[in-house]
Amino acid sequence: MRQGSHVIVLPFPGQGHLTPMSQFCKRLASKGLKSTLVLVSDKPSPPYKTEHDDSVTVFPIPNGFQEGEDPFQDLDDYIERVQASIKTHLPELIQDMKLSGNPPKALVYDSTMPWLLDIAHGHGLKGAVFFTQPWLVSVIYYHVNKGSFSVPATKYAHSTLASFPSFPMLSANDLPSYLCESSSYPNMLRIVIEQLSNIERVDLLLCNTFDKLEEKLLKWVKSMWPVLNIGPTVPSMYLDKRLSEDKSYGFSLFTPKSAECMEWLNSKQPNSVVYVSFGSLVILKEDQMMELAQGLKESGCFFLWVVRDTELDKIPRNYVEEIGEKGLIVSWSLQLDVLAHESVGCFLTHCGWNSMLESLCLGVPMIGMPHWTDQPTNAKFMEDVWKVGVRVKAEGDGFVRRDEFVRCVGQVMEGEKGEEMRRSAEKWKVLALEAVSEGGSSDKSIQEFVSMFC
Ligand code: UDP
Repeated sequence: MRQGSHVIVLPFPGQGHLTPMSQFCKRLASKGLKSTLVLVSDKPSPPYKTEHDDSVTVFPIPNGFQEGEDPFQDLDDYIERVQASIKTHLPELIQDMKLSGNPPKALVYDSTMPWLLDIAHGHGLKGAVFFTQPWLVSVIYYHVNKGSFSVPATKYAHSTLASFPSFPMLSANDLPSYLCESSSYPNMLRIVIEQLSNIERVDLLLCNTFDKLEEKLLKWVKSMWPVLNIGPTVPSMYLDKRLSEDKSYGFSLFTPKSAECMEWLNSKQPNSVVYVSFGSLVILKEDQMMELAQGLKESGCFFLWVVRDTELDKIPRNYVEEIGEKGLIVSWSLQLDVLAHESVGCFLTHCGWNSMLESLCLGVPMIGMPHWTDQPTNAKFMEDVWKVGVRVKAEGDGFVRRDEFVRCVGQVMEGEKGEEMRRSAEKWKVLALEAVSEGGSSDKSIQEFVSMFC
């Protein structure tokens, strides 16, 4: 065990959590604070790119499943086994660190696992909760948790539901999905709401956002809790090519088809390609995939579409031959490299918070097709607050027709409205760079965190 101050960082084992929390570790390292990143592995031997250097040590622990078992058959069972594994292995790790004379100072844990606060405190560590969603979403969950905001929300569907500082009125359509009656994931509602259940006892709240992004709401948040905004966790080199920070991704659960994407994008004109990705978890119904495929084809634009291996059989037969040079389908991309490429003119996204921040930071306007969890609320940010994109209009059952994809692509890729979005996106890009640059609000927050624990 190395000597010197250090902290433990424990993300939930999903790409949308691993990405920002591993980048956070790198930011700490750049300011001299070491960390141990505890990775719950979904495979007996970790698939993670083991990219640890002197300042970030990776400590893999099992997810509690045997080889050959499918961990994702039953979400409750998965969460229970992960929890049991962490409860066994984390105290052992802390104990070992103590025995070696180098106890960690704090546990930075994912907000979806609030019970980790008691483990931190029980071992004499400070507990810092890390939110991978915007403050607005956390504040909504807080009010639901306190009982001051009643769910399910569908009954309010077409009337104004709630307002928050600096934010337009929210209808049910804009709320995190699990708050609505129609949600088919009742246990997820419990998990997202419990994130805020012990917030009064937490030592510090970290969030992957930046001050200017949620400025007015932040005043209320800061009056309630000790908060540090440390985002966007996008490596600064993507924001400003002159910066030499290591631009590597941290930890990826998927293998990107990087060279293939870059070669294809290099052959295209600036702003001519629609990038399409729904992140690591969203599953589209087969008829929706078909409709999207036809919509992209009919849009007339070039498109680079990420279709994970598990979704591939939903692509229409002969589709790849039919589209020819018009489109490229890959199983995973290095998304930041794609968004940073000059030929990409817009991002059709599921509105995952990381994807939204990445697109915003790189000045790429968006088409939002939110699916679940915080994505509808993020889409509201994108369309009505940041004004950097449009949200697709779905039919009553949530289905989006091909004509709607064609309309949205046309609106963002061409015409005056598209230009306005591009200008807004450029403005946000500058503000994001300001926040993470030396002396910027998020840079100062990282420094403050480091000073607390160094
Ligand atoms: N991502 C990627 N390549 C892809 C698709 C996604 O690198 O082909 C990354 C993306 O850059 C982001 C993360 O995976 O950092 C997805 O997180 P997000 O919050 O957007 O969505 P989630 O997967 O959690 O739904």
